[in-house]
Amino acid sequence: MTALVIAEHDHATVKPATLNTVTAALACGGDVHVLVAGANAAEAGKAAAQIVGVSKVIVADSPSLAENLAENVAAQVLAIASNYSHILFPSTANGKNVAPRVAAKLDVAQISDITKVESPDTFERPIYAGNAIATVQSADPIKVITVRTTGFDAAAATGGSASVETAEGVADSGKSSFVGREVTKSDRPELTAAKIIVSGGRALGSAEKFTEVMTPLADKLNAGLGASRAAVDAGYAPNDWQVGQTGKIVAPQLYIAAGISGAIQHLAGMKDSKVIVAINKDEEAPIFSVADYGLVADLFTAVPELVKAL
Ligand SMILES: Cc1cc2nc3c(=O)[nH]c(=O)nc-3n(C[C@H](O)[C@H](O)[C@H](O)COP(=O)(O)OP(=O)(O)OC[C@H]3O[C@@H](n4cnc5c(N)ncnc54)[C@H](O)[C@@H]3O)c2cc1C
Repeated sequence: MTALVIAEHDHATVKPATLNTVTAALACGGDVHVLVAGANAAEAGKAAAQIVGVSKVIVADSPSLAENLAENVAAQVLAIASNYSHILFPSTANGKNVAPRVAAKLDVAQISDITKVESPDTFERPIYAGNAIATVQSADPIKVITVRTTGFDAAAATGGSASVETAEGVADSGKSSFVGREVTKSDRPELTAAKIIVSGGRALGSAEKFTEVMTPLADKLNAGLGASRAAVDAGYAPNDWQVGQTGKIVAPQLYIAAGISGAIQHLAGMKDSKVIVAINKDEEAPIFSVADYGLVADLFTAVPELVKAL
């Protein structure tokens, strides 16, 4: 029994989501291999070989894999899929783009967003925005899985010594072509990888106030900035800051929610955070039901005071 993890990488380094996916793969019980499908991706292959618990890294190098086009990456996975009992993707935008294609081509059911491996064929996954946990069992010969990375600790990124093999890269499928990419540039930690997140809600009232009140706190704590959907929909914060059921799922060491009521759709994205701090002027706000520390206060005075005290 061998599991294959599809690495999330930028051709030079391996992204943290890969490390959590390796932990899930190890829990499946057998050997763990990692596929780095990229272009000039030898450095990412070397980095993957350092991950503790990985026994083999396969680097597939081809210009067709330069831009992560889902059709080409899926073809690369399918080229070696028959060697594996489990194929695991991080439940990221990339992973979710490729995994269904692989599952469909293998004619198996995808097992989505797992948070626990009970046994090699039985997994837990949240449903109804995290309000219930389903236990799913699969009889498929190859289990194609996406892994909710917040459900698994990260494997150690260094200390391992896997062998590195190269595989022939697939030809371009010709079904899609890369046109361009607009990447948000920020000095802040990426939301899903941030150890601390400070998040603002509708209460901030405007984009200017959001920046004026929340940014100094994020700066002080070297934190990622998040927002509720109401704040995003109102234009107070950019779309990619949204935390929740239809935003990002995060589980930082510390999550500070200011002026966020704690609707279940927001909680679905952050309730696994290690320590939750809520600042809300309504003591009945549902956010306090998940908060480790709650401050009933006006955020426009409490947040600047916190910044001053830090
Ligand atoms: C299908 C679906 C998916 C959704 N997905 C998401 C999602 O991914 N993420 C998400 O966040 N939401 C999501 N929502 C929306 C969600 O239901 C809530 O509407 C939203 O989270 C509310 O945002 P909020 O807490 O900022 O605003 P509100 O609910 O309006 O809460 C504002 C809070 O600020 C407090 N407040 C006001 N003034 C102050 C002040 N001066 N100081 C301190 N506190 C103050 C109030 O007491 C209140 O608790 C989804 C909804 C649906 C139906």
